[in-house]
Amino acid sequence: MNQFDRLSDVRLWDRHHVWHSFTQMAEYEPFLIERAQGCWLFDSEGRRYLDGVSSMWCNVHGHNHPVINEAIRRQLDKVAHVTSLGMGNSTTATLAYRLVQKSPQKLQHVFFSSDGASAVEVALKLAFQYWRQCDTPQPQRSLFLALGQAYHGDTLGSVSVGGVSRFHAMFAPLLFDVLRGPCPDSFRKPKQYQGTDLTSYYLSSYEKLLIEHGDRVAAIITEPLVQGAAGMVMHPPGFLRGLRDLADRYKTLLIVDEIATGFGRTGTLWACQQESVEPDLLCSGKGLSGGYLPISATLASTEIWNAFLGPYEQSKSFFHGHTFGGNPLAAAAALATLDLFESENTLQQIPQKAAKLAELLAPLRDHPHVGDVRQRGLIAAVELVRDKSTLQPYPWEQRRGVLACQRALREEVWMRPLGNVIILMPPLVIDDAEMEQLVHAAKVGIDAATQA
Ligand SMILES: *Cc1c(COP(=O)(O)O)cnc(C)c1O
Repeated sequence: MNQFDRLSDVRLWDRHHVWHSFTQMAEYEPFLIERAQGCWLFDSEGRRYLDGVSSMWCNVHGHNHPVINEAIRRQLDKVAHVTSLGMGNSTTATLAYRLVQKSPQKLQHVFFSSDGASAVEVALKLAFQYWRQCDTPQPQRSLFLALGQAYHGDTLGSVSVGGVSRFHAMFAPLLFDVLRGPCPDSFRKPKQYQGTDLTSYYLSSYEKLLIEHGDRVAAIITEPLVQGAAGMVMHPPGFLRGLRDLADRYKTLLIVDEIATGFGRTGTLWACQQESVEPDLLCSGKGLSGGYLPISATLASTEIWNAFLGPYEQSKSFFHGHTFGGNPLAAAAALATLDLFESENTLQQIPQKAAKLAELLAPLRDHPHVGDVRQRGLIAAVELVRDKSTLQPYPWEQRRGVLACQRALREEVWMRPLGNVIILMPPLVIDDAEMEQLVHAAKVGIDAATQA
């Protein structure tokens, strides 16, 4: 078998045996990435592509980084996996310590899982169980208050709190009831909104729900500042702070899902730090290992932790776990990722990079089919509209976003859209020249996709 036969075999296997995520397999064309370096992906045909979405929002310091690679190798020579059921290892313990040091003060305890959705499930179950075991139990608190258009992962608990109907409606009969507030969108404002303060406008809807149902709410769950899968919806300033205040006023918990926004994306290690918000529970994933290996974390306050302590016979333990939770190889990658934030001054460089990205994107605002260009740190989104004056969207079946990204591929840039929204979310190490290429490809793609 020569090299080319083997390539056609694996393309066939990828086409017929691998069931790809969020992909219509009837039309899937194999696209095999064989190696990567920095912000670049190299495919099996020898072509290269700028990674415009950080391997689905998770890469931080670039691919194939020698420091992360070395950390994984060193751990590999010690032990590849240790269960977290009743035992631990020094790499995972060090990671927990380092995470706690870098997080809001209230958060002192870390439950490790392997993916973001599981970190959310853990937060929901911890909140639920907390109210049954805290000093003055309130077992009627079994509802979650979630945001319109929320996305928290694809397992059934995280889908229950999610609100993206295109993904979630099918599974409605399997989901638990959730209180749902409006999506605090700064671009598509509700018709009733009359130009008063947008933050207060949205928060008042949440307060209404809490006035009515507050004593039954176990927790409010939110993506902080930016709602990723909703299309990089940007919250008005102070909204997160306002949710924290509401949680305090109605004596419930606040869960912040930092799976997409954490690890420097918005300019600070955690997005919630920008509004000086201390959540009771914080979910991290994606960038936690630099985007190298599957690991996620749910950070919890000491108040929550304490509610799970007691004599064995009281069964206050958290009966939940994932086989690979806290895996030391992934923890080693995460520790190296945190080290790199310091040795490479990653956060210090984000304002300048974000400013450059904003400057490059600005001319797109004048495009006849661009309704909005929005950005927070190194998360940017360009929303295509059929009619700029009414902001009428293109019908989703027309796949304008996909068409734009397909065209961008010919400019050596890989992006994955969300409906009509083009996402630009490169690794935080992207340089100026790469950023220019990224935005150029997005423009060429948008022109091609909106021509007819
Ligand atoms: C990606 C994402 C998740 C789910 O993480 P997985 O690792 O894909 O399970 C949850 N919440 C948010 C905000 C995300 O962006």
